[in-house]
Amino acid sequence: MNYQDEIPLAKRINPIKTITAKSFLRTGLLFLGLGVLLTLIANKSILQKTNFSDNSISSTERNEKKSLLGHLPYPEASKDELILFSPGIYVHKDIYENFKEMQFMAAQRGISLQLLSGYRSINLQREIFYENKSIRNQTAVERSRDSAPPGYSEHSTGYAIDVGDGNYPNTHFEVEFEQTPAFRWMKRFASKYHFVLSFPPNNKQGVTYEPWHWRFEGTVNALRKFEAANKITKFK
Ligand SMILES: [Zn+2]
Repeated sequence: MNYQDEIPLAKRINPIKTITAKSFLRTGLLFLGLGVLLTLIANKSILQKTNFSDNSISSTERNEKKSLLGHLPYPEASKDELILFSPGIYVHKDIYENFKEMQFMAAQRGISLQLLSGYRSINLQREIFYENKSIRNQTAVERSRDSAPPGYSEHSTGYAIDVGDGNYPNTHFEVEFEQTPAFRWMKRFASKYHFVLSFPPNNKQGVTYEPWHWRFEGTVNALRKFEAANKITKFK
């Protein structure tokens, strides 16, 4: 009985089989790996392309849902968020002190900042939008350039105000307001009190220039309301 005979036949041929299987497996795995890698790369670029087009579609859809004739939707302030500023004019509680202070500081220079309007309910906005539209014989698209459709006015939040120069009442709600001392003062100092011009000339929202219309961005709550508007301004 020689040494070889003591080893069972299966074990004797096994090493050869193992080597063949191993190298076969290795080559197979290599090709499999390459295949998987290529598939992954291909899939990834397809996925990226799909994601990209999905994003652009959904953001377009979102924008379409969000804005109406250039105006963005705004919720109505609740009654307990509002405070009476002057007869018939309510504003959001958050802006009360800021506007008072701004008015006081301007008055020190002999400038009269007059609050012309503040909070407007969606119902009031509806009347303004449709009544002015029929008075002026305008279409909704024409009207939307200088007035927001109901549910789409910054005034509904209580954070938007229309300001006039008390010494030049004939410029109230007119572009000529920009030539008054009140506007010039506000342009320079309003940001100190967190008021910003909502619709400057050639604004990205496509709304007619309104030098009298300012919105307050001095609280997180207010900023949240105008986040979409600020995104249009900064990124469009
Ligand atoms: Zn306004």
